[in-house]
Amino acid sequence: MLKIYNSLTRKKEVFKPIQTGKVKLYVCGVTVYDYCHLGHARTYTAFDVAIRYLQWRGYDVTYVRNITDIDDKIIKRANENKEDFHELVKRYTTAMHEDFAALGMTKPHHEPTATEFIPQMISMVDKLLENKKAYIASNGDVYFSVRDFENYGCLAHRNIDQLESGARVEINDVKQDPLDFVLWKLAKPNEPQWESPWGAGRPGWHIECAAMSTSMLGNTFDIHGGGKDLIFPHHENELAEAEAATQEKFVNLWMHAGFLQVAKEKMSKSLGNFFTIRDCLENHAPEVLRYFLMTSHYRSQLQYADETIIQSRNALERFYTALRDMPSAEALVDSAYEEKFVNAMDDDFNTPIAFSVLFDLAHEVQRLRASDLALASMHAALLKKLGKVLGILQDDPHDFLMNEKKNSDVDVEKVNALIVARNEARAAKLWAEADRIRAQLTEMKIVLEDNAEGTVWKHE
Ligand SMILES: [Zn+2]
Repeated sequence: MLKIYNSLTRKKEVFKPIQTGKVKLYVCGVTVYDYCHLGHARTYTAFDVAIRYLQWRGYDVTYVRNITDIDDKIIKRANENKEDFHELVKRYTTAMHEDFAALGMTKPHHEPTATEFIPQMISMVDKLLENKKAYIASNGDVYFSVRDFENYGCLAHRNIDQLESGARVEINDVKQDPLDFVLWKLAKPNEPQWESPWGAGRPGWHIECAAMSTSMLGNTFDIHGGGKDLIFPHHENELAEAEAATQEKFVNLWMHAGFLQVAKEKMSKSLGNFFTIRDCLENHAPEVLRYFLMTSHYRSQLQYADETIIQSRNALERFYTALRDMPSAEALVDSAYEEKFVNAMDDDFNTPIAFSVLFDLAHEVQRLRASDLALASMHAALLKKLGKVLGILQDDPHDFLMNEKKNSDVDVEKVNALIVARNEARAAKLWAEADRIRAQLTEMKIVLEDNAEGTVWKHE
């Protein structure tokens, strides 16, 4: 029974799609004005894993992820570059597609852009005015009136007065309430603009997603997701707009992914503490990055540290060492490993627990390798099959280990040969020789761990 944490109810709920066997899911996409950084990869990997797992569980998933192709940041950057905003958007959309594909992310079925959905946004704003949930301010902009939507604050779990205490009150504000937000903004001279009943202008950010998601998935759909920072105000406002316009429930389940943090701060463009995905891919295999991004549960914060990346590489090396030279075989069926994996993933996509199951499986492959190659290869096939659900273990083991050897400046073959020589020396009670080999490995910055299954090693 799949359970997913719902930010709206703050509970893990048994997942029940509106239509049996089908899942309609909308994830807020990227504002394309620069290269995507690893924080974006964290968010979208979380949803990629959810989608892969839902599909593996047999659901027919419709995945919509929008592209914000018009906003203040885009206009500002295009002006700085002295280029048309379309050109800027095109360039960074292509870059985003390249980066996400390199990380093995599932492609959305639909990727609507804000500028293609202006008519739908205009009609939603029109509906909100008609339903008396919006007003035209003295400067001509159209605002949503939060005091006229009684559920305002339901997603943030705060009432309007609590939310208000944190809101910034601007001088000369034309809004009736500080929390009111813009639905249609009149254009300044030389800004990109579209005709509307309220004058030439452009939509506010929140109305984009409300209009695009309901246009593509219906007034009520299964899952809406994004990074945790979108809960308030973006998703709160989307919910208010959609429900005030359609007078139907907007979304059954809200999923939010935790941040990627660097030294306890959120990785973001504005803080300047980011690494682009493409820079990271220069130094690390895509699966190493994917593994790293899944090392903490998707709702938790994930700390960026070089050590964690190295540990992720070591983990994959262990998996690929288990998969190496295994004859192809049918995956083991009705296995306790698969059951544990499913239980972990059914529990709100718990990837750290799922990884621990994969480790046990890899151990078993290694344990059986010498005694029962046929059974070992069936375990290996299951390891690969379950790895695929998480988007890992799909490379050729030899290629992966060879490339990692190149990346890590550590000669994996040599390390393994030295470990064998050390174990032989120990078995023969040649302690001085065993110590000499260990010292040689220490010099290569390799740390050994002797356990019941044998010797494992990692980078210092
Ligand atoms: Zn959105």
